[in-house]
Amino acid sequence: MNWIDTHCHLEMIEGDTKDVVSSSMELGVDKMVTIGTSPANNKQVLSNIKKFDNVYGTLGVHPNDANQQAMVYLDGITEELSSNKKILAIGECGFDFFRQQTSLSDQRVVFEKQMQMALELKLPIVIHSRQAEEETIAAMEPYLKKGLKALFHCFTSKDILFELGMRFDSWFSYNAIATFKKGDEIREFLLKTPTDKILIETDSPYLAPAPYRGKGNIPGYVSIIGKELAGFLNIGEAEFMKLTYDNCHTFYDRLKLGGVI
Ligand SMILES: [Zn+2]
Repeated sequence: MNWIDTHCHLEMIEGDTKDVVSSSMELGVDKMVTIGTSPANNKQVLSNIKKFDNVYGTLGVHPNDANQQAMVYLDGITEELSSNKKILAIGECGFDFFRQQTSLSDQRVVFEKQMQMALELKLPIVIHSRQAEEETIAAMEPYLKKGLKALFHCFTSKDILFELGMRFDSWFSYNAIATFKKGDEIREFLLKTPTDKILIETDSPYLAPAPYRGKGNIPGYVSIIGKELAGFLNIGEAEFMKLTYDNCHTFYDRLKLGGVI
């Protein structure tokens, strides 16, 4: 057993993907989930999961890529989502008003479409919510009531969104931001998260942990994040590795099938 990076963007990392995967494995990571963000990126995700045994993926449309064409695109990937067992979830999707490049209404319809698909295909969903707590809650609540299985990725949000996730047994994933000096608020959320709902991620190539801050991040550094957060939670490193490993298999349950295409 090793660490798992539950959220990375392999396609956006500079350099040869083969080298990134092998150096991540040397750092103690044996599985990584590369997260789809747009039709073009999803295509690269599909190619990477085919190329590398221990790379899994998700397909989805990020709020910054939400538009009418994305709606048509999503209709076309239902078959791939249901048959490709290395695709573990739908997403990342949600709202982003930090880098708002798309309209609120486009973000909403594209997000709701993906939640509907997740329910129909019985797939978990990876949520991206940035500076959009109220809109996220209003959009998600009806789907959560119907049993949507959600992961709030890179959780850096406010009480109200945390409470929504808690009310519906959602998962929360933490990355290097929770290890930064200014991460007190996020560490408070981490402490309040039930241990069976904690996942860890890099969100690489973004958000590299110390001593790599300001440089490119890779999935391998989830081992640094895991070690640091285990210390903060006062849990042994091996125990925390097992805990996050098990949680990852519970959330992304297709991983239990071994991810054979
Ligand atoms: Zn991401």
